[in-house]
Amino acid sequence: MKVIIHGGFFSESSTSSETKLAKQKALERIVKAAYHYLQDHTALETVVYACTLLEDDALFNAGTGSQIQSDGKIRMSAAVMDGQSQKMSGVINIEEVKNPVIVAQTLMAEDDRVLGGSGATNYARQHGYEVFSTEIPQRRAEYEAKRKATGTGTVGCVAIDKDGKLAAATSTGGKGFEIPGRISDSATVAGNYANEHCGVSCTGVGEDIVSGAVAAKIVTRVTDNMTIEAAFEKTFAELRPYDGFCGAIAIDKAGNVYHQDSHPSMVYASFDGQRLDVFN
Ligand code: ASP
Repeated sequence: MKVIIHGGFFSESSTSSETKLAKQKALERIVKAAYHYLQDHTALETVVYACTLLEDDALFNAGTGSQIQSDGKIRMSAAVMDGQSQKMSGVINIEEVKNPVIVAQTLMAEDDRVLGGSGATNYARQHGYEVFSTEIPQRRAEYEAKRKATGTGTVGCVAIDKDGKLAAATSTGGKGFEIPGRISDSATVAGNYANEHCGVSCTGVGEDIVSGAVAAKIVTRVTDNMTIEAAFEKTFAELRPYDGFCGAIAIDKAGNVYHQDSHPSMVYASFDGQRLDVFN
């Protein structure tokens, strides 16, 4: 059993050392909670649980603390993928729900599993997810000052459970200041993908991640017998010609845990019950 989580990117130049410490502590707490949860839950349930904890922490740009778009509204995206059934479900540009990843998980039971915009928000209401503002004063102040918020802080989790099953989940508040209607990578197979061989969750600039089909490529390469290291290396090399901005976390079916970023530095933590690895 293993878990790896990410909390997007940390920008040294524009974020304080207190924030860095706070993010390290939050990730350590959440990866341990997720590992504990994994003891008697599936990988799928665990990745949703971990993303929920990350969404609820205003330090990260997902759920509470999401970035504000150019028209002053918050629109969030999230996806869940079960490596065993290879079912993916997601919400794109959902508004005013506390935990987009839980709405994504609820959609797993439907034939129509990825919903966007008002369809996603209406579905959430019909399923009892009440109106909840995920705005925090800091994001509003950044928006009012017409400043880009500091760094990208999407969240994600990949887990392997006691039966060797893999799952991945990703949730984002987006890049900030987007044109309304912009689609993030997070609820696409470029940003979140899993099968029985490997699971991947990405963060970074969604347009670059989609151009690189990053999560789908890494998983496909591992499926075709490349090592997880080689799969990351080749996929990240393919981002270089256009300076693609991306970070990714992964676990393969043998339990190898891996992460890489194209620019410094992705905020991540992994735990297997003994070894804790937290970014620094
Ligand atoms: N990938 C997200 C997006 O482009 C942003 C992020 O990772 O922080 O919407």
